Amino acid sequence: MPFIFIMKLRDALQNVDYDELVKLYEDVSKGSEHVKKLVSKKLDELENSAKSCAVCGKPIFFGDGAYTLIFGNDDFKKKANLCAVDCLDFFVKHLKKLEEKKATFGIKNEPYVEK
Ligand SMILES: [Zn+2]
Repeated sequence: MPFIFIMKLRDALQNVDYDELVKLYEDVSKGSEHVKKLVSKKLDELENSAKSCAVCGKPIFFGDGAYTLIFGNDDFKKKANLCAVDCLDFFVKHLKKLEEKKATFGIKNEPYVEK
C-alpha cells in the first residue's frame, strides 16, 4: 500500500470517534463486508461520474478505453477527454488547424510577461 495512501487513511481516521473505530475494527476483523460495500459504492460513484467526449459529447466512463489528452503550457494546462481514437484524431487535427491559424496571424504561444 503506498505511503501517501496510508497517510490519507490515517488523516481520515482522525475524524472517527472511539465507538465508530471499534465498529470499523470489528468489521475489518470479520472480512470487511461494510468497508467493502462502502469502497465499492465510492468506486461506482467515481466510475459513473461520466465525463463527456470533447469532440462528440458522448459520456465517457472510466476504464472503457477512452483517452485523456493533457496539453498547454506549465502555467495553464488543459485537459480533453476523448471517447475513442477517431475523436482523438479529430481533436488533434483541430489543434493543428488552430496552430496553423495562430502562425498565419502571428500569434505566439509564449506566456505573457509584463514589461
Ligand atoms: Zn467522442
